[in-house]
Amino acid sequence: MALGARKGGDHSPFFRNDLTGLADWTKLVDRTIVGRRGIGVILLGPERGRRRAEEFSMSGRALPRIRFGKTGWKVTRLGIGTIPLIKQPERATDATLNRALDRGITLVDVAEQYENMQHRVGKFISHRRGEFVLTTKTYSRTSREARKSLESALKALKTDHIDGYMMHSVSCPAEWEGVRAKGGCLETFRKAQGEGLIGQIGVSIHRDLRVMREAIESGLFGFMMLAYSPLDQENVAAEILPLARRHDIGVMLMKAMAGGQLVPEPTDMSAEEADRLKRLSIRFCLSNPNVHSVVVGMKSPEEVDFNVAAACATLPIDEQRTAEMRRLIGRISKDFRYGQMCLRCYYCQPCPEGVPIPEVFRAGDALSGYPDDLKPLADEMYAKLGFRSEMCVECGECVAKCPAGIEIPRKLRDVAEAFAARRVR
Ligand code: SF4
Ligand code: SF4
Repeated sequence: MALGARKGGDHSPFFRNDLTGLADWTKLVDRTIVGRRGIGVILLGPERGRRRAEEFSMSGRALPRIRFGKTGWKVTRLGIGTIPLIKQPERATDATLNRALDRGITLVDVAEQYENMQHRVGKFISHRRGEFVLTTKTYSRTSREARKSLESALKALKTDHIDGYMMHSVSCPAEWEGVRAKGGCLETFRKAQGEGLIGQIGVSIHRDLRVMREAIESGLFGFMMLAYSPLDQENVAAEILPLARRHDIGVMLMKAMAGGQLVPEPTDMSAEEADRLKRLSIRFCLSNPNVHSVVVGMKSPEEVDFNVAAACATLPIDEQRTAEMRRLIGRISKDFRYGQMCLRCYYCQPCPEGVPIPEVFRAGDALSGYPDDLKPLADEMYAKLGFRSEMCVECGECVAKCPAGIEIPRKLRDVAEAFAARRVR
C-alpha cells in the first residue's frame, strides 16, 4: 500500500512520536540514511528506534521526514518535481526517478500539464508505488473535465489511487469561484475522494493572497502547494504559511529558486558559487518552520544526489549562511520578476524613522508586476503598512547597508507616488 493511502491515519508504532510542532522539527522521528554504501531507514521509536539507530554507521546523512499536516502522510522534507524531466530522454527520466526513490525521497509531484510526465512516472516507478506519496494536478475546472483528467491520470500513472490530487494554479478570484461553483471540479474531487480514487484534495496557488487565505480557511483542502523562495515574491512567509500551519494544512513548496530567477548567469559567479547558492536556497526554504516539504525539479541522478545532500544539511540555516546567500543573490545580474530589485535581505532595517523598507518595495513590486485584476492586492498590502513618504528623512543610513545598491529614499518616493496616483483616479 502506498505511503499516502493509509486510511484513518498511520497507526504504526514507529510514527506515534510525530512532531507536534514544526518548529520542533529537530525531533524528527523517521530518517532515511544516505551513506556511501546505500540507503537505510532509521525509525526512531522510543527504545527500539535508538537501538536501530546504533546499528547504522552515522557517517551517513539523514534525509528527514515529517508529518505532513493533517494528511497523515509521512514524507521527506525534499520532494522531487518533474518539470525538468519533460525534455530529458526516457532513460534519464527512469534513472532520475529511481535514484530519487533510492535516496529515500518519498514525495513525487507531477501534473497533467507536464506533457508526458504522468505517463513516465507510471512507466518507471509504478512498480515502487508503495515507497512514495504521489501528488498530481489538473487544470480542469469543470466537474466533467476533471473526471476525465482523473481517469486518464490513474491510467497513465498505473495506479488505482492518487494520494494527493490538486487543482492546478488556482491563482485568481475568478478561478477560485469557478472551482467551487455548481458543476465545478470540486464536485469531482469530492466524489473521487469518497470512491477512494484520491486520498487528499489539494490546490496549488501561485499568487493572490486572498485566494490563499480563503482556500486555507475553507477547510476544503488537506494540503497546498505554494511558491516560496528567498525572494518570497508572493509574500507568503508573513501571513499565509503561519495561517496554513494553524489549520494543520500540509504545505509543499514550489519554486525554491524563484522559478529560475535565482539561477545565475555564468558571468555572475562561478559554477561552485551557483551550486552553493542553490544549496543555501533549499536550506533557507526548509528552515521555515511552517513548511513541510520543498519540491525541487530534478533532471538527472546527479541532481538528485546534490539536492538530497542540501536537504540533509543542518537546519535551520544560520545567520552567517543566510547573509552569504543574500550576497550571492545580489550578484545575479538578471532582473527579478515584477522588476524586483530589493532582495528582502532586511539589512536596511531598522530604519530610525520606522520605515518598513522591504515591505514597501514588495508592495511596489506587486503593483508594477501584477495584472490589473490583482493590483488591488498590492493596494491592500501597501495600505496595511501605514507608510507615508514624509516618514523618510533621507538620512542615507539604509543606502549604505543595501547590497543591491538601491537608492532607497528615491525608490520609496516612487512607490508612494504610484500608489497615490491610483487613489486619485
Ligand atoms: S534614508 Fe529614509 S528610509 Fe533610509 S534609513 Fe533614512 S529615514 Fe529610513
Ligand atoms: S537592504 Fe536593500 S535589498 Fe535589502 S531589504 Fe533593504 S532595500 Fe531591500
